[in-house]
Amino acid sequence: MAEHNRLGSTVLGYPRIGPDRELKKAVEGYWAGRIDEAELQKVARGLRLDTWRALAKAGLDTSPSNTFSFYDQVLDNTVLFGALPRRFTELGLSPIDTYFAAARGVQEAPALEMTKWFDTNYHYLVPELGPDTEFSVSGGKPLDEYREARAIGVETRPVLVGPVTYLLLAKAAEGAPGGFSPLDLLPDLVTAYARLLGTLHDEGVRWVQLDEPAFAADRTPDELEALRQAYAALGGLERRPKLLVAGYFGALGDALGVLARSPVDGLAVDLVTEPDAVHAVAAESALRDKEVLAGVVDGRNVWRVDADAALAKAATLLGTAGSVGVSTSCSLLHVPYDTARESDVDERLRGWLAFARQKVEEVVLLGKALAGEPADLSSARAATADRANAGDLRDDRVRARLSALKPEHSRRGDYAERAAAQREALGLPPLPSTTIGSFPQTGDVRKARAALRAGRIDAGTYRAQMHAEIEKVVRLQEDLGLDVLVHGEPERNDMVQYFAEQLSGFAATEFGWVQSYGSRCVRPPILFGDVSRPRPMTVDWASYAQSLTAKPVKGMLTGPVTILAWSFVRDDQPLADTARQVALAIRDEVHDLESAGIRIIQVDEPALRELLPLRASAHAAYFGWAVESFRLATSGIADSTQIHTHMCYSEFGDILPAIDAIDADVTSIEAARSRMEVLDGLGDFERGVGPGVYDIHSPRVPDVDEVTALLRTAVAAVAPDRIWVNPDCGLKTRTYAEVEPALRNLVTAAHRLRPTL
Ligand code: GLN
Ligand code: ZN
Repeated sequence: MAEHNRLGSTVLGYPRIGPDRELKKAVEGYWAGRIDEAELQKVARGLRLDTWRALAKAGLDTSPSNTFSFYDQVLDNTVLFGALPRRFTELGLSPIDTYFAAARGVQEAPALEMTKWFDTNYHYLVPELGPDTEFSVSGGKPLDEYREARAIGVETRPVLVGPVTYLLLAKAAEGAPGGFSPLDLLPDLVTAYARLLGTLHDEGVRWVQLDEPAFAADRTPDELEALRQAYAALGGLERRPKLLVAGYFGALGDALGVLARSPVDGLAVDLVTEPDAVHAVAAESALRDKEVLAGVVDGRNVWRVDADAALAKAATLLGTAGSVGVSTSCSLLHVPYDTARESDVDERLRGWLAFARQKVEEVVLLGKALAGEPADLSSARAATADRANAGDLRDDRVRARLSALKPEHSRRGDYAERAAAQREALGLPPLPSTTIGSFPQTGDVRKARAALRAGRIDAGTYRAQMHAEIEKVVRLQEDLGLDVLVHGEPERNDMVQYFAEQLSGFAATEFGWVQSYGSRCVRPPILFGDVSRPRPMTVDWASYAQSLTAKPVKGMLTGPVTILAWSFVRDDQPLADTARQVALAIRDEVHDLESAGIRIIQVDEPALRELLPLRASAHAAYFGWAVESFRLATSGIADSTQIHTHMCYSEFGDILPAIDAIDADVTSIEAARSRMEVLDGLGDFERGVGPGVYDIHSPRVPDVDEVTALLRTAVAAVAPDRIWVNPDCGLKTRTYAEVEPALRNLVTAAHRLRPTL
């Protein structure tokens, strides 16, 4: 095979927000009218060119293109194939404004639904397809990007969401007939892909990458058959570039054999997520005439690769595949740009880290070593050895505590007794009202936090400002007549970062931004060592709030699963062990809150669903440690202390057993948008539930009748004495002008219903 026709060492994708979040700033500037489209396009082009130059210069054999996006790659695909719902195309806006309207919504047309991209914290926009959807190839983005790269001398491989994954991620448009499934559209969509492939072929494109991560999850025989048909058709085209199909976020399972037997030219396999995945690939004889990209560099976590282990894995495939290239396990979209900028991170820790730029270097190095070319692995080996031997990762006290744990440490008393003790201690009315924790984060609150960080104000001044804010929030809640109050979380930048900054074993980054959705970026902390809590983290704020009122103030913590989900987590021990350590730290806080007189403590687990493994065979093990860590964090307290938890996603059928098993006294959950559908699963739930009756994702203020109607539905579905009245989620992104009347209506609705129970 001609050398230039191999993929060789490559990456499946690259970050696009810019090392300094240039894209975020430009896009938000454009939305706000501060810059025009020409300026926005200029920034975007600059970022694309920088990426291609950097990838080529680092020595990759081939580089991806069409990995840039103004908002989301699934939305790009929807636009590319002309599948935007009419409510956006009819607006008469320019192409880019139509695109942003679909992403963010406008007055006349609500946005496409947004949801999590597999088990990551990235969110994509859900295509809405119906039987009358007609695909076309209406956008030239892959072609434009390809030409743009070629113009600077970089030959690239356009990347697209694969047709089957695209349809599996879509939902049936409102009004579609009952029997319709987006997958019914596969033949039409494949025709559109075929046209695009023909165009790309004529342009001289050598390879196209089609991403099919949906096959890292369990799939039905029909779905596997759809995969077979799609690639039989695309692979059978006469005029087409070579096709690379990429599976990631886990092993391909049954799809491996299907793809191996289809007439495509290359297969990218994730050899990181499931360490044993390599064996199935090595045993697949049908890969003989294909190039296999061994995804041995972790695209989702930030640790330097164990070079020898990675090389050994890639080498295992040498006898199986036609040729083997080295790659990342998935797109590098999920890691930050460059460790070199993190001058505040401890130097030793920095030596163990690899962000996107370093991962590209690792791929290049491993690619050379695999090909038998000179490659100096010594510094990679030294980093691996240094981390393996680092004493500062271990905290013997934490280890001793863990090994002394007994089952009773994760168990609370009988629920009936707890409920009685809590009724007595709290004296709450039926349908008690509360909020989820945060109140609107005003400009003043943000300024105070920034000023403290920058050293412009001292801790005393900061504390006084926070106390003033807490007092304001407590007075407001009393005035509104809420039954269980909160302090409002003004001191928190983020519900995970706030805790990570105070726990041992975590490090923060300065520039470690990754895209979460659209222009929104997060900076996950790095959990590198044994975790412990040196001192109380929230007790001062909660006790101050409690000192202002006779009503119970709810303490507010983030749970162990969510802390793991939204951090980069050490990969040198099982996740379950790390979760248990975080749980012990949270447990310490729970106990201190209780000792300080806080009678209700909420431990938020909004990410419980997100970490759920894609394969059902792994669910039981996940539930085992996830449930145990929550219980460990919330046990060992008096029966009369009430534990709440909060989860925010409306579809939670899969995790219903876990929600039950964590044994929280009260669970609040997002429900307003789905009109209380979630309650179907909670009918025989024994403990308290607070289905959200106020959709905080919208500026709309629900009126009393609307909230009353939702509550009536809830009361009918669940025994009335178990229902709590609360919004869907925290209020931090809303304004007081919205929150005040909404909460007033919520309390009024509860009062109205009480006498009827
Ligand atoms: N207690 C948090 C808040 O109110 C919960 C946030 C969340 O669920 N994501 O902001
Ligand atoms: Zn929430």
